[in-house]
Amino acid sequence: MTLSSHNTHPKDILLREDRLPHIWCAGCGLGVALNCFIGALVDSGLDLQKTVVVSGIGCTGRTAGYVKLDSFHTTHGRAIPFATGLKLANPDLNVIVFSGDGDLIAIGGNHFIHAARRNVDLKVICVNNFNYGMTGGQAAPTTPTQARTATTPKGNLEHPFNIPYLAAGSGAVYVARWTTLHVRRLQQAMKDVLLRKGFSVVEVISPCPTLFGRLNKQGTGAEILEYYREKSTIQHGMDPAKVGIDLGGEIIVGKFIDQPDKPTFMDNYRALFGEKEGA
Ligand code: SF4
Repeated sequence: MTLSSHNTHPKDILLREDRLPHIWCAGCGLGVALNCFIGALVDSGLDLQKTVVVSGIGCTGRTAGYVKLDSFHTTHGRAIPFATGLKLANPDLNVIVFSGDGDLIAIGGNHFIHAARRNVDLKVICVNNFNYGMTGGQAAPTTPTQARTATTPKGNLEHPFNIPYLAAGSGAVYVARWTTLHVRRLQQAMKDVLLRKGFSVVEVISPCPTLFGRLNKQGTGAEILEYYREKSTIQHGMDPAKVGIDLGGEIIVGKFIDQPDKPTFMDNYRALFGEKEGA
């Protein structure tokens, strides 16, 4: 696929226009995340004929249907095992997982930690809106303590996962977090993971004004971006253990982990079995 042979907007070429209009609510951050992702794909120079996108279920999971690449909208929580199979069957592919916190960290949580531990060469973009959006705003394992959701109307009793800490502790070689306010930095981080080898994660903090935002009186999508502006601090190299997010609290963003030299699963496979079997 060549990007210069069309007269359309340079990003339109990577959208399936026949699938539009999209389903996302006004003020949702997912359009921003997708825009940054397409920009990163274009900037990366990757061979798009060898690039695939895998999503699970949920609002974020619709992305696989909107990008004009080989893409797979898989069952709930199973984006990572599906992507792992693609990568191991054809190691030449650039395999990207683009899915939400409910899909990747709840139902898919087991797959997430073990793919990170194995250092499977996957690029994971996890959009975190702190709840299950598509199914009605239920609590997720990322929902901050005390936050109201459809299933925690008086406030969440549980402690949430801190996604960068979970990723880093499980072995991810690249871990970054940005919000949908930080569009240039977010696009750069997405480009970074597209060009990294190994299990690489970008967490995207994103507004869900329709459900999580409404139930927690965060206002419109624009007002949530204003909250991100007031409460975000950039701290590259920060210990991921210290970047947990409390309801309405500070959001530490930046690149926390970058270990480009760690052998991947396929590196170890080839070292053990040789090039031919590991081709
Ligand atoms: Fe976005 Fe929330 Fe609407 Fe889903 S429910 S599209 S996450 S605003």
